[in-house]
Amino acid sequence: MSSKRPMVKARTGLEKECKGWEQEAVLRMLRNNLDPAVAEKPEDLIVYGGKGKAARNWASYDAIVCSLKELEADETLLIQSGKPVGKFRTHDQAPRVLLSNSVLVPKWANWEHFNQLEKEGLMMYGQMTAGSWIYIGTQGILQGTYETFAEIARQHFGGSLKGTITLTAGLGGMGGAQPLAVTMNDGVVIAVDVDEKRILKRLETKYCDKSTQSIEEAIRWAIEAKKAGKPLSIGLVGHASSTLHEVLAKGIKIDIVTDQTSAHDPLVGYIPEGHSLEEANRLRQHDPQEYLALAKSSMKKHVEAMVQFQKQGSVVFDYGNNIRQVAKDEGLKEAFNFPGFVPAYIRPQFCEGKGPFRWVALSGDPEDIYRTDRLIKELFPENKALCRWIDMAQEKVSFQGLPARICWLGYGDRQKMGLAINELVRKGELKAPIVIGRDHLDCGSVASPNRETEAMLDGSDAVGDWAVLNALINTAAGASWVSFHHGGGVGMGYSLHGGMVVVADGTELAHQRLERVLTTDPGMGIIRHADAGYDKAREVAKEKNVIIPMDII
Ligand code: NAD
Repeated sequence: MSSKRPMVKARTGLEKECKGWEQEAVLRMLRNNLDPAVAEKPEDLIVYGGKGKAARNWASYDAIVCSLKELEADETLLIQSGKPVGKFRTHDQAPRVLLSNSVLVPKWANWEHFNQLEKEGLMMYGQMTAGSWIYIGTQGILQGTYETFAEIARQHFGGSLKGTITLTAGLGGMGGAQPLAVTMNDGVVIAVDVDEKRILKRLETKYCDKSTQSIEEAIRWAIEAKKAGKPLSIGLVGHASSTLHEVLAKGIKIDIVTDQTSAHDPLVGYIPEGHSLEEANRLRQHDPQEYLALAKSSMKKHVEAMVQFQKQGSVVFDYGNNIRQVAKDEGLKEAFNFPGFVPAYIRPQFCEGKGPFRWVALSGDPEDIYRTDRLIKELFPENKALCRWIDMAQEKVSFQGLPARICWLGYGDRQKMGLAINELVRKGELKAPIVIGRDHLDCGSVASPNRETEAMLDGSDAVGDWAVLNALINTAAGASWVSFHHGGGVGMGYSLHGGMVVVADGTELAHQRLERVLTTDPGMGIIRHADAGYDKAREVAKEKNVIIPMDII
């Protein structure tokens, strides 16, 4: 699969390769997704999340780069699963790029069919922000993970994780945020990964404190830190399922158990028990059916251990990788005994149109992000938790690729922040334009019954219309690029989701786009949850004048 390519990195500074800042922003963000400091396997165009890619192959990548350099400010480029397929004249307020990734007709929407199409070169897996060019490295998931653990602390441990041990697995692009998120909440965590390189990457970027190959050592360190009330994160090289069973057998008390291995993809993501990475790679090549059978039965065992921890009193939750579904399909009746993280900890925020808002400095200068950090504190001084997050992020988060920041903002506040950023660019207080976007895991952009829309109040978990409407309204509102994807997070057949990015280049046109898109996008979260019957969303809609026609009559 790998081919020898020079390293890809986004250009920084003010000199453009494209005909306008919007096009330049797309190009820089595509390259940034593949920067070795950002992507998990850039040589294979893989950004994160199993095989989530930025372009279908290197020929497609080259053609996208070429097209972006030629793209006029009133044209729109079309990308079909990582390949540029057409360019049309539209108008200057329309998106510059529209992307559709991994979307299959429902009856064919499974990994088997997808893998066949991928093999024939007809598709690629876009994950969420990989194929939509707004991945910013592990920071992108850090605040969400931090918020989740903070909510667990509030609901179960009196507001802090001090003196608790969390046991989890998966230290990849997303899962790598777990150790830092737990220690930011003052807890102790053992995070297991079969791939030592992934652990080393988290040590280098200071997301994880120390590592070991020995389960005994990991447990000893964890118990010492717990007793001392000190935060500590430990990367443990090992297989998730076997490790969980070993910890159970040793009778060690674990307070919180979750998992972020790439279980959404049983063929390429999850490593079967008893297999080294090399053995797993060989088996995957030579006997994919055997691989799948082994991976799925390991996942069943893995979830059995999680259920066992829950029975013994641990707080256990699914962290968005669809592992419960695989275990259930393998015959484990109790697989859904523990909840997903969205209904358990995140949904109240979605009802307010809140979600993972992020921005990236195209100048490449960290000072631009520090200026926006100050801006957040100027605009929202009353939001102490947000200001605390910004302080912690400045102190603990190393930038990967182009400097970026993430924070959860809701309806109204996103627009306020976006317009203020545009104003700073206009006044020259920021050195270059800023790209503003979000994860697809957001309040109004996803249909994913085992994750973002699990256990909706009205049973509308699998209704995909909302994700489609999100992409359509953001296109109508004039985002700079809009994407629609299938299968992100939880795998083929289990999710539909949309993404959007707007460029703040300090112009009046950008002001208008930002004003509209940063209203329509979080507004979708409010109407989606109000429609499902959430009182909180209805209250917010009333308070903020979000129009819901059925409520007016
Ligand atoms: P990744 O592919 O970058 O990393 C997965 C990691 O799991 C790798 O380091 C791999 O070595 C490890 N792993 C695989 N099988 C293992 C096993 N059996 N035992 C121990 N380690 C094993 O993926 P990622 O980007 O970190 O995402 C992880 C999962 O979380 C995916 O399923 C993804 O879809 C899901 N996800 C969750 C959220 C969220 O908010 N919770 C958001 C996006 C994605």
